[in-house]
Amino acid sequence: MTARRVHAGTIPEPVLSLCKAIRDGGYRAWVVGGSLRDLLMRRDPKDWDLATSATPEQITALFRRVIPTGIEHGTVTVLWHGEPYEVTTLRGEGGYSDGRRPDHVYFIDDIEQDLARRDFTVNALAYDTVDDRLIDPFGGLNDMDAGLLRTVGSAEERFAEDGLRVLRAARFVAVLEFDIERHTRNGITSSLESFRKVSPERVRDEWLKTFAARVPSRGFELMRDTGILAITYPELMDQVGCEQNRYHAYDVWGHTMACMDACEQGPIHRLAGLLHDVGKPKTRELSDKTGDYTFYNHEVVGARMAEGWLKRYRFSNDERQQVVHLVRHHLVCYEDSWSDAAVRRFIKRVGLDRVPALLALARADVLAKGREVGEELAALERLQARVDSAVDQGAAFGVRDLAIGGTDVMKRLGVPPGPIIGDVLEKLLVRVLDDPALNERDRLLDAVDEIGQEMHRS
Ligand code: ATP
Ligand code: MG
Repeated sequence: MTARRVHAGTIPEPVLSLCKAIRDGGYRAWVVGGSLRDLLMRRDPKDWDLATSATPEQITALFRRVIPTGIEHGTVTVLWHGEPYEVTTLRGEGGYSDGRRPDHVYFIDDIEQDLARRDFTVNALAYDTVDDRLIDPFGGLNDMDAGLLRTVGSAEERFAEDGLRVLRAARFVAVLEFDIERHTRNGITSSLESFRKVSPERVRDEWLKTFAARVPSRGFELMRDTGILAITYPELMDQVGCEQNRYHAYDVWGHTMACMDACEQGPIHRLAGLLHDVGKPKTRELSDKTGDYTFYNHEVVGARMAEGWLKRYRFSNDERQQVVHLVRHHLVCYEDSWSDAAVRRFIKRVGLDRVPALLALARADVLAKGREVGEELAALERLQARVDSAVDQGAAFGVRDLAIGGTDVMKRLGVPPGPIIGDVLEKLLVRVLDDPALNERDRLLDAVDEIGQEMHRS
């Protein structure tokens, strides 16, 4: 087959010259993998992977700077014009007795055989830049045109060999905006035993990549539908069919998917969208008064559930803290009757630096109700404007913004350092949130006296 939609001009010069250098050394080289796929789909290609007929030793002898990245699998990293390129010797694989990695790999000299071990047809293409020749033994281009994700060979066998592939399938369905071919889809459900063996870190990494999709719910719907989600996060499955109340058009799951899709594209936003209502099924109760469902405290219960799950799946401390905080505070419940002091207390409760992410989540949450929400969105805009004006007025939102510090409190009360200092500062902040004019040195020192006496009495 000739190169239909790929030609040398679309590939960066250093990649071409690296392929040429390998050919001049007496070996063959092909562009393979995700970068070729993305190039053909007119998506922005990342790290260019090369396959070669040379052994790792031969590549090492050919170039000045080579790092033995994964030599037992035939991969070395060539530093070429200051950039790293993974160059992997053509290989086959023998047996996957653990459902995670091949028992052994062996080098071969046939590019088609190398492509045969790859997971999906659109990932099983190779392009020889020197001969301008595209190799497509499994109909990858056709599937690309049809927007279909299909395994190379038997889906059941390919998924059973390596449990990670089912999650890669969900990721590609989301990121490439593909449909999944029927046998491939059915193969997922019959191969979940292998998926159970995949490490939490690898699951996490695939989820993070799935969040980068324009519409990540495509991948999550597939995970739900095939049983992947029931293994990774059974509590999210409890949302499916969990009907809500008159404010919502969708069940909790449908709402969650819509919210995640409406969130900004960063992983923290999308994770928060996915997890924000995880506490709803556990807290749902039928109200005698309204005959409608309530979800009291679901943000507290949900934050705890999210925390445990994020730990189990080894998300970083920073990711975990940010997401749990967003889940915990996602019920904003703003009303125009809030006083300015109430707005300042809201900012203090959330933390000024976290307000933008929270309001973004609140907007996505509102949009995902699936009803007419113009007024609710407008209310959030008004809250945003009031937050901005509180900030413009230079109001204090934390003890650090107070006109006096811990040392002043110690001197004034004649006490040594200890937790009481923090308590006094917190009490001062509560007063200043009520009345910003109090945030002057002398007035605060007077207030310290008062607070000292109150504490003494109690
Ligand atoms: P991305 O780089 O966007 O994550 P990718 O398809 O390039 O996607 P990589 O993990 O970089 O994924 O792998 C490069 C290529 O190696 C893939 O395109 C595929 O051909 C093959 N591959 C990767 N992981 C697997 C796997 N688990 N099973 C079979 N083939 C795989
Ligand atoms: Mg890649």
